[in-house]
Amino acid sequence: MSPIALVALLGLWPAQDMYRQQREAMVREHIEARGISNARVLRAMRTVPRHEFVPAELRAQAYADHPLPIGHGQTISQPYIVAFMSDALDVKHTHKVLEIGAGSGYQAAVLALLAKHVYTIEIVEPLAVSAKQKLARYENVTVRHGDGYKGWLEEAPFDRIMLTAAPPELPAALLEQLKPGGKLIAPVGRTVFDQELVLVEKAADGTMKQRSILPVRFVPMVPGKE
Ligand code: SAH
Repeated sequence: MSPIALVALLGLWPAQDMYRQQREAMVREHIEARGISNARVLRAMRTVPRHEFVPAELRAQAYADHPLPIGHGQTISQPYIVAFMSDALDVKHTHKVLEIGAGSGYQAAVLALLAKHVYTIEIVEPLAVSAKQKLARYENVTVRHGDGYKGWLEEAPFDRIMLTAAPPELPAALLEQLKPGGKLIAPVGRTVFDQELVLVEKAADGTMKQRSILPVRFVPMVPGKE
């Protein structure tokens, strides 16, 4: 029997097909229907296999319209929020992007299809290890275990910065590591009940302006130990 026939017999192709259909429905019903029209973001959301980034026992829910637990008290964001933040950050294929909170690695995979290179930091070591494994085939992603409050000085400055955990206020080191002309997006708030997604734009002269664009609920960003 040819290897191809064997794979088909094992039922792997129908499963991939089922996930592709679910992914298509996710983009159509939960992302496009809510007004996101950025073609590059939609293409990335149609491409990244979200089911591979969720725990095996939750794969059936991978394309549903809500966040899912990924262990260690953390979550993979709702697909719409991933698309919304990717769109709002306006990521170009020439951009060097920093993500804080790699978690499952899913958002970094989406960013990898939009940017030149993605650097992502995760403070929970087992999550950093598994995100690194899952992202191994994305050659333009680098994962590091560490404290996102400090940013990634060796690779700074960044064209774009995305936080996927919520600090009580914008971390100074991250604002410093943003390029003039750059943008940063972050959920900011002291409790889960008062978080807002904030978009910061740094002008060529280094001055910054910020605005709140959406009420959100993210896990809190935890301070690293010295
Ligand atoms: N982007 C992720 C979402 C993960 S949830 C995804 O697509 O799955 C937020 C993540 O931020 C969690 O994994 C949490 O451990 C991590 N985190 C919290 N505080 C952090 C910090 N100070 N530095 C780096 N990561 C942090």
